[in-house]
This record gives sequence, structure tokens and C-alpha cells, in this order.
Amino acid sequence: MGQLTDYNFIMALLGRHGFHFSKAKGQNFLVASWVPERIAAESGADARSGILEIGPGVGCLTAELAKRAGQVLALEIDSRLMPVLAETVGDLDNVAVLNGDVMDADLAALVSAHFAGLSPAVCANLPYNITTPVLTKLISSGLFSTITVMIQREVARRICAAPGTEDYGAFGIFVDFYTRPRLLFDVPPDCFEPRPKVTSSVIRLEKRDRPAAAVDEKLFFQIVRAAFNQRRKTLVNALASGFSDRLEKAQIAECIAACGFSETVRGETLSIEEFARLTQEIGRALK
Ligand code: SAM
Repeated sequence: MGQLTDYNFIMALLGRHGFHFSKAKGQNFLVASWVPERIAAESGADARSGILEIGPGVGCLTAELAKRAGQVLALEIDSRLMPVLAETVGDLDNVAVLNGDVMDADLAALVSAHFAGLSPAVCANLPYNITTPVLTKLISSGLFSTITVMIQREVARRICAAPGTEDYGAFGIFVDFYTRPRLLFDVPPDCFEPRPKVTSSVIRLEKRDRPAAAVDEKLFFQIVRAAFNQRRKTLVNALASGFSDRLEKAQIAECIAACGFSETVRGETLSIEEFARLTQEIGRALK
């Protein structure tokens, strides 16, 4: 299967099928065999796993996952890759390939149709242009025990950032609220064809048994978004503009004080637990 990351083999295969890379579809294919091997190994896939792969390309990661998983479902948007995938992974008994857009897919229906009796997980080299919406959809579905994905290093850092750092933000808090994220390893641009401009990272998100805090989740994320929409402002000012239709600035200041935070605190320094405490206070003030 090492062939599926061999530059000459891939170019000849794609050439025979009249395929040209599409930038709009985020097509950067792996040409270094250690990468799909390591991603598949780190995914923890075994005979009990049903693995959803998004964007199989020519199937190099698909083939590695098929060695380990009970079942692999590979969802590829580009219909031009269907005959290519039929040739490369079509003979594998535990692989199904579907032509479709992950953003339109009914994930629950796919999981129940393809992964009966298996533990659903995701493993993919994600198209970079849709990293955030795809991860949001996968996490929000609550269907997957683990999500192991290669993404831009910059986004990986944001997901794994600690409070008070420059990379810390609303998306990282969302991911951390529902999963335990772990940064695994970096992959340099020369492992891809065509080469991306940036370094990539592989991360693994393990679903939490329950969300990181027991709060009104809608209000929690409204507060987080309002805090980071104006991250250079103090929290009281950021929330005063985010909640201007519902609360007076003085009420927000009281909530912040009731949490024991300084009146000049910035949202970017608060942990999930601290945002949760603030959510309780603001929830009370809104009643
Ligand atoms: N897995 C292959 C590899 O590692 O070499 C290809 C990875 S490439 C970064 C991303 C793949 O996702 C491409 O095959 C692309 O056509 C596919 N893709 C892009 N947008 C998609 C979408 N919305 N739904 C499903 N697949 C998509």
C-alpha cells in the first residue's frame, strides 16, 4: 500500500484518470508513507471501530485504516476520484466509498447504516478550507468517541491553547467543552503534493463523557463569543456590548464581582470553569 503515497505512482494513476488537483477542494495528497501509517495508528482504530474518513483522495489513509478497523466509510466530495478509489481500495472488504459533501451529510444516518455494532470514530486528513465547520459538525453530532485529524498547525494550536495565551479563543473553548484535545505531531509541507504553504498538525479529540461544565450551554457560548468578539476590551465592556439588549453594564459588573474576578479582567484569561461560573451569575441576572 506504500504505493499510494509514492509520488510517481500517484501522478501516473491520476494522469490516467485525467485528474487535476483542485485548490478549492483542499486537495493536498500525502506523498510520505509514514504519515498515513502514523495517523491510522494514533487513531486507535481496531476491529471494534467504525471509522468515518472525510476526503480519502487516492486512498492512502483509507488503506491504512482498513488494516486496523472493523469498517471504514470514506466520504469524498470529488466524483472524479470515484474511479480512482475503485481501483485503489475497491477490493477491500471492510471499505465503503461514498461520493458526497460532509457538510450536507446526515452523519447519524451514515453511522447507523454502516457501523452497526461498532464504535464510531473519525480519522481524516481534512481539507483545510473547511476545517472549522467540519470539526464543529463532527463534535456537535456527539456521535464519535474519538476524532483524529490532520489540520493546519495554526488551528491545532488554537484548539489546544491554554487560557491567557494568544491562541486561546472561542473555537478552542468549544472543542475543549465537549472533547479532550491532544496535539500529536507535526507534518511538514514536503509530505504533500501539491505542497501547502503551512505546516500541518495531527490532533486527537476524545469525547468527554459529559461536557466540561454543567451549565446552560447556549448562554455559556453567547458569553464566550461576546468575550472574544472584543478580546482587547475588559470583560465588563465586551459583555456590556454583547448583552446590551438584555443587561445594564452595572449588572454585568456585579456578576463579574460575584465570581471573585477583578473588575479589569479580560475574557481571554478565563478558563472554562470560570466562564461556567460567570454563566451561572449572568443566568441569575437575566431572570
Ligand atoms: N486523504 C487524502 C490524503 O491524505 O492524501 C486526501 C486529503 S486532501 C487534504 C482532502 C480531501 O478531502 C480531498 O480528497 C478532497 O477532494 C476532499 N474533500 C474536500 N472537501 C470535502 C467535503 N466537503 N466533503 C468530503 N470530502 C471533501
